[in-house]
Amino acid sequence: MKYTITLFLVLSTLAVSAQFDNFFLDKTMRMDYYHSGNHETEFYSFDELIEEPYWGGSKMNLVDTFEYGNYYVKVFNTQNDSLLYSRGYSSLFGEWQTTREAEETWRTLSEAVVFPYPKQEVRIELYGRNWDGVFEKKFEYTVDPSANYFVKQENRLTYPSFDVHISGDSQKKVDIVILPEGYTEEEMGAFIEDCQKFAKDLFAFAPYSENKDKFNIRGVLAPSRDSGVDIPADTVWKNTLMNASFYTFDSERYLMTFDNKSVRDLAANAPYDQIYILVNSKKYGGGAIYNYYNVSVNSNAKSAQILSHEFGHGFAGLGDEYFDSSTSYEDFYNLKAEPWEPNLTTLVNFENKWQDMLKKKTPVPTPDIEQYYNKLGVFEGGGYVAKGVYRPMHDCMMNTFKDTKFCPVCARAIQRMIDFYTE
Ligand SMILES: [Zn+2]
Repeated sequence: MKYTITLFLVLSTLAVSAQFDNFFLDKTMRMDYYHSGNHETEFYSFDELIEEPYWGGSKMNLVDTFEYGNYYVKVFNTQNDSLLYSRGYSSLFGEWQTTREAEETWRTLSEAVVFPYPKQEVRIELYGRNWDGVFEKKFEYTVDPSANYFVKQENRLTYPSFDVHISGDSQKKVDIVILPEGYTEEEMGAFIEDCQKFAKDLFAFAPYSENKDKFNIRGVLAPSRDSGVDIPADTVWKNTLMNASFYTFDSERYLMTFDNKSVRDLAANAPYDQIYILVNSKKYGGGAIYNYYNVSVNSNAKSAQILSHEFGHGFAGLGDEYFDSSTSYEDFYNLKAEPWEPNLTTLVNFENKWQDMLKKKTPVPTPDIEQYYNKLGVFEGGGYVAKGVYRPMHDCMMNTFKDTKFCPVCARAIQRMIDFYTE
């Protein structure tokens, strides 16, 4: 019986991977588009299609089963409307829409979606999640790569890549590409060392520590003209490759970049599932957005915790479990809908979260008192608000760095994502 099941799995595996070869080539198509609007309105407009040399993703799990993120890309076969590929993601534009600035002005940001390079005509559809948590179709674009000679084949920022930690074939591993921001030509040696430290830091914490053999990490040797990064409030401006900056949305430690094209162009130098931007700075800061990109500094004393925390956002879609720090967001979560992040709940649909992991006698909500500090529960406060959003544990890596562990709910979410990319 066991043999039969194994054989069935092998056969179905072959069928799915044949599905990839029927429809896709082993490289990436990227669609750049512009996302414009203000706090209540948004528009999407097409920019360009680009061919990139590697496909770093799974060839088995083409359709996303998590339903995380504020946006979704779906790629359909136009001949029979079958879904070939999908992926959830979030974006800096989506965060910006929740800031005060978005109530006062309009803004346009460049964004991109990537998917394996189609052999025949496909329809690319973009979806956005509304305030009630439901996806609505916002945009579509049809392309037949065999007949469309406008798909760009030039790589605008071509640089050599190097191996940091390789455990196997890209399609069966989580592939991280590390991009250097604010390292000069003379500092490329320091960047290589920082990439080694990145791997050591990432694998220092469970569940990454037990999954070392499921990751590939590569770096791109791309020097910036200046050393360091922009700090607008201190009038520090540096000429760097990806234009990253502290004070994103006027939050001092929020270190991000609006220059999506440079980030994507640089990332295309290696196969990737996740983009990690390592910034050459001692100042505390970072940021990450689910399936968008991750940023952290290289040499702050807390850099190991910062990178694990940020990668929790970017890779596993984890939400922030803190609520007592100042952020630039207003009404980030709708308290009448269940947030999509696996480690936050409004108790609207808690059954789909970590209810299965709770001990029967654990009170819901769980009092935030010493008796429960090391227990899994449902603690009020999280997602930037003290009321109405609940987190799984008193402390966690997604809350403070006092207890440098992921709570069991975050650890499970990370493990599930690793499995998605590697099974
Ligand atoms: Zn957690």
